[in-house]
Amino acid sequence: MKAVRIVKPEQLELIEVEKPVINEKDNVLIRMTAAGICGSDVGIYHGTNAAATYPRIIGHEIVGVVDQVGPNVQNLKVGDRVIVNQVTSCGECYPCRKGRGNVCDHLAVRGVHIDGGYREFIAVPESDCYILPDQLSDVDAVMIEPTTIAIQSCTRAQLEQEDMLLLYGAGALGSSILRIARQMCSHIIVADIMDDKLAEAKAAGAKYTINTQKEDFLEKVLEYTHGRGTTVSIDAACVKDSLLNLLKATGNAGRVITMGFSTAPTEVNQFLITSKELDVRGSRLQNKMFGKAIEMIHAGTLNLSGSVSHTFPLTKAQEAFDFLDTRDPSIRKIVLTFDF
Ligand code: MN
Repeated sequence: MKAVRIVKPEQLELIEVEKPVINEKDNVLIRMTAAGICGSDVGIYHGTNAAATYPRIIGHEIVGVVDQVGPNVQNLKVGDRVIVNQVTSCGECYPCRKGRGNVCDHLAVRGVHIDGGYREFIAVPESDCYILPDQLSDVDAVMIEPTTIAIQSCTRAQLEQEDMLLLYGAGALGSSILRIARQMCSHIIVADIMDDKLAEAKAAGAKYTINTQKEDFLEKVLEYTHGRGTTVSIDAACVKDSLLNLLKATGNAGRVITMGFSTAPTEVNQFLITSKELDVRGSRLQNKMFGKAIEMIHAGTLNLSGSVSHTFPLTKAQEAFDFLDTRDPSIRKIVLTFDF
């Protein structure tokens, strides 16, 4: 069967590999139908993702159809359309015992630390599969994964109706978070450097927007928060000055959520955190959020259609990654398909 592997940074190859066989642990064989390309996949390709190891069959937004089931499978049957959990954890370490398998001491993320979904078949435990709502196409279903990341950040932020939220960044990550956040609170400020992204954010439910290149960021945050600063700030831009800006923008007793993967040092000062007694929290991957995202789709509160802008067959993955590098403004989510 065909697979796409990143051999080392900047080297992508289309290869033939053995079709996986199911066993006691990986007891469901999935025939892939759609796999999203995420910013973190682009990072693995370009060698800027600190978590990745090489060579790697990447792809962590994994949608397919159950093709074969092992003898111990309880709930799934051949033909079920599913999305596969990207996180695998040991279940025994300190974070796992605390119910936080997404930061397991032995964390293995599909497509990052172990092989992922850019291949025709993948064998996984039944418990890692989530059945897709009927009304959602396989290509659109890829968006469930980024949605789980968004739900995780809003959960880590303990977002509530009375919060005044700053979303720093209106790109792919920021727009996914906005879609979830607006269901939890209405006072949302979105900051970015691109006017068209800010216009989209406004249309998607942001109450205020700030263009940080044209406007005084802090002055505007204070203006939009009755002079006190936000109660929650989430970094969906993950750039060098993000953290310092968010610490300044957040008011007393607030929460600041980081999501970046950069290892470059960034300057902050303790007084901003201590004096306001801020909670600065990381948000990584997602912790049991697939079921929540799918529930929201069934309830009609989450609509994922329209987010995918382009599809390429797996065999043209190189073209897809090259196209992403052009940063063409028409690009939203790009999905690899398996009908070649
Ligand atoms: Mn992703």
